[in-house]
Amino acid sequence: MKKTTPTALVTSGPTYEPIDPVRFLGNRSSGKQGHAIAAALRDAGFAVTLMSGPTALADVTGVKMVHVTTAKEMLEACKAVLPVDVAVFAAAVADWRPKRVQSHKIKKNGSAPPVIELVENPDILKTVATHKTLRPRLVIGFAAETKEVIANANAKREAKGCDWIIANDVSGGQGFDADTNSVTLITDRHTEIWKEQTKQAIAEKLVKKIIGVVGVE
Ligand code: C5P
Repeated sequence: MKKTTPTALVTSGPTYEPIDPVRFLGNRSSGKQGHAIAAALRDAGFAVTLMSGPTALADVTGVKMVHVTTAKEMLEACKAVLPVDVAVFAAAVADWRPKRVQSHKIKKNGSAPPVIELVENPDILKTVATHKTLRPRLVIGFAAETKEVIANANAKREAKGCDWIIANDVSGGQGFDADTNSVTLITDRHTEIWKEQTKQAIAEKLVKKIIGVVGVE
């Protein structure tokens, strides 16, 4: 019988939401965890598309790299990749974007600072997890929380319609830009604490779990 290669989509890094031609709203996500997951899925035999926001990281070899800047671009690019077997949403997508992008650099003018009106960005994870026809078999999200980590992350898992959520406590600033992470994997059946280890080790552990659901021949 012909082998079929399982497919995976991974989002990684921040999104940048422009204010004017030189300024943007962004966050401190490094992309290290998402890129490590894409590499681990590749090593396990998946055909991987890595959807990356702006990061300082090198492209991951052996995966299809898609570079995007904004949340709206990331959403459209993700929809274009469906269907896939597994989708892992590790990107730190900006929750809001400026309603209007000024076509010229906003000047100081000596007057009051500008008021930037924000609008909510689309939720990429929720859009994919609740897709009527092209929902991946396994949808995994991340939740960076600063209090009641497990309860908030599990509520997020249910609200967004994903199967698993990987929670991390960022109250002390940990997780962002570091090479290590400590997380809790939450499924509909159980929770597992993964003590502090490299993002690569977390990625490999996650991929072993994924393979348990989406077998690789
Ligand atoms: O709601 P919150 O941002 O905490 O949710 C985190 C999870 O949702 C992450 O998996 C993130 O990649 C995903 N997300 C998304 N699109 C958004 C916001 C979050 O895919 N607009």
